[in-house]
Amino acid sequence: MKVIMLGAPGAGKGTQAVRVASAYQIPHISTGDIFRANIKGGTELGKKAKEYMDAGNLVPDELVCDLVVDRIKKEDCKNGYVLDGFPRTIPQAEALDKAVEAIGEKVDFAVNIDVPDEAIITRMSGRRACLTCGATYHIEYNPPKKADICDTCGSALVLREDDKPETVKTRLNVYHEQTQPLIDYYTGKNILVTVDGTQNMDKVFSDIKALLGE
Ligand code: ADP
Ligand code: ADP
Ligand code: ZN
Repeated sequence: MKVIMLGAPGAGKGTQAVRVASAYQIPHISTGDIFRANIKGGTELGKKAKEYMDAGNLVPDELVCDLVVDRIKKEDCKNGYVLDGFPRTIPQAEALDKAVEAIGEKVDFAVNIDVPDEAIITRMSGRRACLTCGATYHIEYNPPKKADICDTCGSALVLREDDKPETVKTRLNVYHEQTQPLIDYYTGKNILVTVDGTQNMDKVFSDIKALLGE
């Protein structure tokens, strides 16, 4: 099963991608996590990506597409994967289609998690991220067992620099301009499914499972 998670920043793509990955036993591939790991590790890619990310802009397609196309060729992806945060532009979607079609396959579902902008701003200020393992929490809706400590790996949780309200506004504009057109793109391919992302996390997940099937 090959699944794409679509939605505004903070819609719940990461939260649901983790659950989809575990339910269908496929890897969860988050481009945001890959970039953050590269920034932490001080790599060339990390240095290039950081300025775009901190400003709330997209990293250029040339830095993203090859990375994902290489990743999905790995052995652990042979039964599928869930892509979280990719594609985010039409050229990225076309690059993905090309790579998947080259091996005679197709993407099965693009899951659009629908959340209005007003709900996003409040949600983001409560997000806490683990930059070591990629886990995500919310101070109110999904708090860690011990305040500011990751349940999974014990690292300190942070409020991401780009989750501050000023940057979130930029990211929402970028989403509407560059990523939202993917909804029409995948509707045209008959693989778009939409869930109401304002419901609680468990209900969003059960809706996704019902749409994806066994
Ligand atoms: P969110 O989970 O809030 O949607 P991500 O962790 O997916 O945020 O992405 C954080 C930042 O990383 C984005 O604002 C962007 O700068 C960069 N990024 C992640 N994925 C992509 C992508 N597919 N194309 C371009 N930039 C990306
Ligand atoms: P994305 O990957 O789309 O940026 P996340 O999965 O990181 O979004 O979720 C953004 C924030 O909102 C996180 O703090 C997360 O714990 C919280 N969150 C996710 N889904 C829900 C939900 N259905 N209801 C309330 N909060 C949620
Ligand atoms: Zn962690």
